[in-house]
Amino acid sequence: MLREDVRELFKKNNALLNGHFKLSSGLHSDTYFQSALILQHPKEAERLGEELAKKIRENNVKVDAVVSPATGGVVIGQEMGGALGVRAIFTERVGGKVLLRRGFSVNENEKVLVVEDVITTGLSTREVIEMLKANGAQVVAVASLVDRSAGKVDFGVPRFSLLSLEVKSYKEEDCPMCKKGGVAVKHGSRK
Ligand SMILES: [Zn+2]
Repeated sequence: MLREDVRELFKKNNALLNGHFKLSSGLHSDTYFQSALILQHPKEAERLGEELAKKIRENNVKVDAVVSPATGGVVIGQEMGGALGVRAIFTERVGGKVLLRRGFSVNENEKVLVVEDVITTGLSTREVIEMLKANGAQVVAVASLVDRSAGKVDFGVPRFSLLSLEVKSYKEEDCPMCKKGGVAVKHGSRK
């Protein structure tokens, strides 16, 4: 599956929109991205999980378990676990801290793949990586459906994504689309 095909698949499912949007941060952007709109279709979720897993296999990354942060990473994490034939668990944020709950744990030196739906600044992914390391796991790679940093974020391990997007966002007063007289549309919900 080529990156262009992935882009088309996202667009077809309205998971990737071009226009003039007001993001939950208040910033304006010409791109709106919501992976849940494609992952709601189990067949597409399975297909994307398989595509991303293919990259892991092709690069000979050995994985014992997939760990993804809730809620965004859970569906694609589950699909990746299925495609790689390993268990898939998820982290949750409680009182600002990233934790493994529900009896989930990682083993000493277990090779863990961190799976996200989208990486923007990488801050929350980094917290997940630190927590896993503190629990003795070995983080071997990070995979995401979409990389919104266009490859700029570095976790010190190999990174894989199906789509790389450099999304420009603007303060309202600096927004070129507003300057042309357009009105930003609000989409989705606040994080
Ligand atoms: Zn604007």
